[in-house]
Amino acid sequence: MLFKDYADLMFKLESVSKRYDKTKLIAEVFKNLDDEDVKILPLALQGNFFPRYITLDIGVSSKLVLKAISKTYNSSVEKIEKLWKEKGDLGLVAQSLSKKEKQMSLFSKSLTLKEVFNALQKFPEITGEKSVDKKLTIIIGFLSRAKDLEVKYLVRLLIGDLRAGIGEGILRDSLILSFIIKEWEHRETDELLIPKDLSEKVQLAFDILNDESEIALILKYHPEDFEKFIKIKIFRPIKLMLAQRVKNVQESFSTVGKPAMFEYKYDGFRVQIHKNNDEIKLFTRKLEDVTKQFPDVLPYLKKNIKAKKIILDSEFIGYDPETKKALPFQKISQRIKRKYDIIKLSELLPVKPKIFDIILLEDKELLNTHFKERRKLLEENVIVEENKIELSNALLTDNLEEAQQFYNKSLEEGNEGLMAKNLEGIYKPGSRVGYMVKIKPILDTLDLVILGGEYGEGKRSNWISSFIVGVRSGDEFLTIGKVGSGLKEKEEEGLTFKQLTEMLKPLIIEEKGKEVKVKPKIVVEVAMEEIQKSESYSSGFALRFPRIIKLRDDKSIDETTTLEEIKTIYKLQRHRNE
Ligand code: ATP
Repeated sequence: MLFKDYADLMFKLESVSKRYDKTKLIAEVFKNLDDEDVKILPLALQGNFFPRYITLDIGVSSKLVLKAISKTYNSSVEKIEKLWKEKGDLGLVAQSLSKKEKQMSLFSKSLTLKEVFNALQKFPEITGEKSVDKKLTIIIGFLSRAKDLEVKYLVRLLIGDLRAGIGEGILRDSLILSFIIKEWEHRETDELLIPKDLSEKVQLAFDILNDESEIALILKYHPEDFEKFIKIKIFRPIKLMLAQRVKNVQESFSTVGKPAMFEYKYDGFRVQIHKNNDEIKLFTRKLEDVTKQFPDVLPYLKKNIKAKKIILDSEFIGYDPETKKALPFQKISQRIKRKYDIIKLSELLPVKPKIFDIILLEDKELLNTHFKERRKLLEENVIVEENKIELSNALLTDNLEEAQQFYNKSLEEGNEGLMAKNLEGIYKPGSRVGYMVKIKPILDTLDLVILGGEYGEGKRSNWISSFIVGVRSGDEFLTIGKVGSGLKEKEEEGLTFKQLTEMLKPLIIEEKGKEVKVKPKIVVEVAMEEIQKSESYSSGFALRFPRIIKLRDDKSIDETTTLEEIKTIYKLQRHRNE
């Protein structure tokens, strides 16, 4: 595929707004690609360079791209920065500069999508002293051969701000149309008409493999029996099952049925444990490999798990080394990020896994095995050793009062509440299907993504001091409020304005006066008094007295609060006030 065809596709995708039109445009293109491009396009459409399960970064900052543009088109960095501020889109700026520099690209060979991706996918391997210069030379090489729209989308790809980026849902549907429901072109309708069970099956493939390139190729060659090729792989993280939220214990029974398994809801860190013989890897819910962070836990996982090959789902919780009492997540959050002195830190802030589910046992996938049976297998395969490796505290009951007491006991012991699990529930990766629900006393914290902000006044003029936060709705983000409070001035007190500003700066994609727009990446937990209807924000809702509680760097932007959840909370709070 020529890079020009990719740029044209992105341009067209940007000019249509209906999901149906976007899906059709992409499906059309997939039909005529060779295998290598079938693997690259799913990434390129989303503005990614690697499949989801690989957490590598090409390490290209907007500063480096600015420099490359400046060198390619003989324009000063200051001038380009100024134009960027005016137009708000570095891709457009580069495109217009390239038009003035006509003579250079007349005789060059056309860029292909493959060569751009093959080169950029090798960027993480470029390290050492001259690495920045080497990357710069490659980018300049590409820019000087790119023309017009190619320049715009190349720059946007490089700075990680594709804008017209396609989400997983549209990608999934376009692969289905292109490879499975081939006759869609002849239909005279403007609905996709994809059978629900088919899109669910393909979605499951995404949630298990987390590799859109591999899935695209499987669908191309095995449209009829693709499911045979979707297998859980050891050491390849899967998306974890998520919980719906209910108001109280009574409502949990009506969602998961009676009797139900109630478990303590621990305030820790979700970890999936993969073990094959003596090798162990640990992954977060964002699919990041965090094995190195927990040298203290690994020996017990090796020693106390009977099966040779197993995947387990757990919550790692911190405890006080003296009193052995559970510590809140905030206290142990350093364990995830720390790059040095990991062993010393593990003595100060020990953690233990509370294992609550089993996903794979030897070569048997347990996704379709009922929870009751999974819990049994879990108990058979883990040898509990107090404070080293434990199972979640569980109570099987159909009695409301008993469950209520268990809930109170869990809270008294410092946990967040209870989980209630459907005994016949299957394990659905990546979904909030209601086989497990959470019961917590406070309904009112949300996980929101930062979409923009505003620099402060006076002593805060160097920091972004208020943040525009948003919720997810399908593939896009809608704003729901502006929050400034909750952040601290000093690091000892918690997350500071300075820290958050530094995290956001590399993500800035537009700047006007004091206002900035940022690429959605950072997730924060926000508490508030109430959700209100509002015209001021694109979600149609606003938050009363919002304040930032903490950074949720364990969450990806796909896992933030959705507009649907906001509507549910809005309804629940009205019931509460009645
Ligand atoms: P919250 O912010 O309420 O923790 P969340 O959005 O992070 O929720 P949910 O999936 O909605 O995540 O809530 C369930 C989370 O609770 C799980 O991701 C897991 O990390 C944690 N958890 C603690 N104890 C258990 C348990 N016994 N069974 C399942 N999950 C548990």
